Amino acid sequence: MSDCLFCKIAGGEIPVEFVYEDDDVVAFRDINPQAPLHTLVVPRRHIATLNDVQPEDAELIGRMYLAAQRVAADAGVAEPGYRTVFNCNAQAGQTVFHLHLHVLGGRAMQWPPG
Ligand code: AMP
Ligand code: ZN
Repeated sequence: MSDCLFCKIAGGEIPVEFVYEDDDVVAFRDINPQAPLHTLVVPRRHIATLNDVQPEDAELIGRMYLAAQRVAADAGVAEPGYRTVFNCNAQAGQTVFHLHLHVLGGRAMQWPPG
């Protein structure tokens, strides 16, 4: 998608430091961090929302979680704990309509989430 922010970031059109990347996903720091660690894991391929994920994307979603695991380990929060979040559509507060997994850590999280 030519006018999608995260397509532009994943494709290198907007320069951003990747904390992790492989053939399928990239990970970079959130521009408005909500925790000491706040990284976004983003598939290179455009998928708008979690609702648009298809059965054939199952491996990709697994790879996103493996990337999140690695981001958390590299940031030193694997053992203390961290949270992963997909916001889907308006009531969840999704603002960027290119699938992304939030990885949040470095502080105690509240439950239930707001
Ligand atoms: P969501 O509200 O789940 O759609 O999350 C979108 C996230 O993208 C928010 O946490 C934003 O702070 C973040 N974000 C928006 N623009 C950028 C950007 N240029 N670089 C990094 N993160 C961004
Ligand atoms: Zn996109």
